[in-house]
Parts: sequence; C-alpha cells; structure tokens
Amino acid sequence: MIQFACPNCRADLKAPEGTEGRTTHCPTCAQSVTVPDAAPLLDALPAEPVPTPAALAPAAHLGRRPDSFRCPFCQSTRRPTASMEMSTAGVVTTIALIFLCLPLFWIGFLIREEKRRCSQCGRQLW
Ligand SMILES: [Zn+2]
Ligand SMILES: [Zn+2]
Repeated sequence: MIQFACPNCRADLKAPEGTEGRTTHCPTCAQSVTVPDAAPLLDALPAEPVPTPAALAPAAHLGRRPDSFRCPFCQSTRRPTASMEMSTAGVVTTIALIFLCLPLFWIGFLIREEKRRCSQCGRQLW
C-alpha cells in the first residue's frame, strides 16, 4: 500500500502498490490525484525532492577531491597538510614594529593565514 496525502485537502489516501504515477480520485474532495512514488511519507509533510543522479554528482565530485589532488612540484597525490602560519604581512609587520614600536612587535605574530603544504615534498601549495 502507498500512503500519501491529497494535495488538495490533505486527506490521507491509500493506493495499491504498482499504481505510482497513475491518477486516482480523492474520496474526500473528489479531485483527481496523482499517486506518488512508493516512499514512506512521514505525516503530511511535503515530500523531499528525490535526489537525481545529476544532483548527486557535484557532491560526489567534492568527495573525490582529496584523491584527485596532485602536487604541482612532485606529482604526489597525497593530501596536503594545512596549517596556520605567519603570513608575509605578519612578518613585515613584526619587523616594522620592532623598529618603530618595540613593545608592540608581537602584533605581527597575530597576522596568520592558512597555508597548505605538500605532505610529500613540503612545498607550499597556495
Ligand atoms: Zn482530497
Ligand atoms: Zn609535493
């Protein structure tokens, strides 16, 4: 049995299996109703759109990203390591503050950015 809610009056309807996509008549409001695909409907909530293979493709592509990574220097496909390192701006700020205002030179150490390094050759990737 396929259980679904009438889109017109929200009445609980039942249809025998194998009638998906067919048109039936709601006994409550007498409107013609299309029998949905056999999916367990929880309450009368609108059914979530069934994910199509095309919709799933981007997510699957993202999931494969670590495998498709390739180091431009050593061609390693191992995942790069990410770490927060002092940025160039941070180094410049630190040096400038050492000369200009020594008590504040530590501010430069706060300027950090995420860097990724190849776990194979250790080179900075971006
Ligand atoms: Zn109805
Ligand atoms: Zn590398």
